[in-house]
Amino acid sequence: MSFPILGLHHVTATANDAQADLDFGMKALGLRLVKKTVNFDNRGVYHFYYGDEHGTPGTLWTTFPYKLLNVPPGVKGAGQVTTTSFSVPAGSLDIWKKRLRDHGFTVTDAPPRFGEESIVVADPSGLVIELVATKSDSRAPWTSGGIDVASAVRGIHSVTLTEANPDVTFAFMQEWFGFGVADEMDGRTRVSVNGSGPGKSVDILKSTDGRRAHNGVGTVHHVAMAIATDEQQLELRAALLKSGISVTPVIDRSYFHSIYFREPGGVLFEVATVEPGFMVDEPLNELGKGLKLPPWEEVNRADIESHLPPVKY
Ligand code: ZN
Repeated sequence: MSFPILGLHHVTATANDAQADLDFGMKALGLRLVKKTVNFDNRGVYHFYYGDEHGTPGTLWTTFPYKLLNVPPGVKGAGQVTTTSFSVPAGSLDIWKKRLRDHGFTVTDAPPRFGEESIVVADPSGLVIELVATKSDSRAPWTSGGIDVASAVRGIHSVTLTEANPDVTFAFMQEWFGFGVADEMDGRTRVSVNGSGPGKSVDILKSTDGRRAHNGVGTVHHVAMAIATDEQQLELRAALLKSGISVTPVIDRSYFHSIYFREPGGVLFEVATVEPGFMVDEPLNELGKGLKLPPWEEVNRADIESHLPPVKY
């Protein structure tokens, strides 16, 4: 039985320097910082959420900039989200190449894939970021910093999971979430859920060398999928447990509620609710401006603020 997954919710990465991360997300990619908070599991580290104006699920890219905690670099490999792809309008890639190069990044062309062109850039932490040019993304973009509506990022396009056994991962995603095969090429299977297209797609890529991934700086920590209600999330959790899959309790992330578990290939999956969203603790026009803490950390605010590196934007 599959459960009603709406599409991707967010992608979360283990990053390096906080200021460089903000500069890349906000100034180079032109995303909106919709929340500046701390890692709820490690309050010594920021948690930045980037997205569209409202921080709509499916547009969210989030980072833990761990530089000051001496977290070692991660290993890219099987059992990991190895590429995060953002969607931009068809015809805008030349503008993006110039823009990213002007910001000091190295940009390369990726081979056309499933009829769409894309470029690849390594972010300041070494995360592999793609911009995919697509005609099929009608989401309204956030525009800032000199990026106009004709080229601005629309949201997450897809993620690529590198897997030793793609068939096993696909079977899991099909069984539990209802993903179906949208297209296939060269060791890569594109699967999608709740329709298809940007924000609803995942590529499962066959590992060429079998090297196992290890999380650390410069690697994606997990990918989250969106579910509409708390009730549906509880039903999914109960069913996963019943079939022997280890899954966390529902965890309050302030802006959504989450459960976590690993797919058979090792990628950490999260299923997160759409509600309550990012306006729960600051108004729309203030999103991202102040350091927001979960209620249980407010007592530690002075200590937290004294240890986080100063950032400006
Ligand atoms: Zn998450």
